Amino acid sequence: MKDRSLLMIPGPIEFEPEVLAALGAPTNSHVAPEFIEEFGQALERLRDVFLSSDGQPFVIAGSGTLAMDLAGANLIEPGDRALVVNTGYFSDRFGELLERYGAVVTHVRAPVGARPTLDEVEDALKGAVYQVMTVTHVDTSTGVVADVEELAALARRYGVLTVVDGVCSVAGEALRMDEWGVDIALTASQKAISVPPGLALLVAGPRAMEKFRRRKSPVANYYADWTNWLPILQAYEARKAGYFGTPPVNLICALNVSLKHILTEGMEARFRRHRALGSACKAAMAALGLGQVPVSAECAANTMTAPRYPAGVSGNDLLPRVKAAGAILAGGLHPAIRAEYFRIGHMGTANAGDLLATVNAIEAGLAACGYAFEPGTGVTAAVRTLALAQVDLR
Ligand SMILES: *Cc1c(COP(=O)(O)O)cnc(C)c1O
Repeated sequence: MKDRSLLMIPGPIEFEPEVLAALGAPTNSHVAPEFIEEFGQALERLRDVFLSSDGQPFVIAGSGTLAMDLAGANLIEPGDRALVVNTGYFSDRFGELLERYGAVVTHVRAPVGARPTLDEVEDALKGAVYQVMTVTHVDTSTGVVADVEELAALARRYGVLTVVDGVCSVAGEALRMDEWGVDIALTASQKAISVPPGLALLVAGPRAMEKFRRRKSPVANYYADWTNWLPILQAYEARKAGYFGTPPVNLICALNVSLKHILTEGMEARFRRHRALGSACKAAMAALGLGQVPVSAECAANTMTAPRYPAGVSGNDLLPRVKAAGAILAGGLHPAIRAEYFRIGHMGTANAGDLLATVNAIEAGLAACGYAFEPGTGVTAAVRTLALAQVDLR
């Protein structure tokens, strides 16, 4: 029988059969006209998903960390100053990565579960001349969402480029590159883009490309160097062949299928669906008496939820029981609180049925751990929240 367990972690997630079928199809030549058309379409669609009219899309084999590396390697020149708006584990990673390329990095930190205030970020921007600011849109280690719109506007006033790590946000949380003035946004295939792991995806706006073009030092990473990839991506978009490194043909076809699904749903409808799923999951956890890592509803993401274990229940007890009841969840990731919380992903293909089945599995797990609550409390809260949201949840 088909394993009906739901993979509800913050990536990889559940994928659509049509996307998986593209992965299992016979592999075409990377210079075959049919593949050139698919790749060209995927690049055009990527711009629409990132809500960027004039950005340069990059699609390169690798994970989300390679997408971060592309931004760091191509944007940073030794001695550049970078400000990291730090909301957790993945913000730390970005800081470390930028230092590897010679940036002088300053972190604006907040307590775990909180985010730096705009005033704190502005104070930092006043303190030195920065070239780049990075923001982790949703830090997957805490479930904290950053206010990218306000942060990007602030950075613009100081002439600083905004780079958004949207690995847990793009195609889930509202992210509007053009409207908000975001210079680089990046993600990976296995999160809300809803394609198995293996693709680094990035869109670079005109100001970011300009900084890259004006570089005085060569890019210190051969594979990530845009000098190598730019002519290839431009060729595919012009429906011509090009070669630098063999593209992952099947993954790119799968990406094209998923991007078509995403744009058919529509970005605004998709953002509304994620908001509804996010608030339903949070309402369910609250109704069950579980706290959450984000310190306020305002800074809690829509693509994932990070509930705290209730007193007397540990992850080793709970997560296998939730899995036995049908939903695979993730443990903690942030080193300071790793054993205190777990993580639920509800992005991409997740629908109302998936969320309710997941909450039900969490209730079953909690009950098996001896936690006292009224059965159905969490599911009822989720159902009510979804009904109030009145959005199309398929
Ligand atoms: C998952 C994730 C990454 C890393 O992506 P990989 O594909 O695991 O390399 C980076 N940033 C954020 C916010 C993520 O959620």
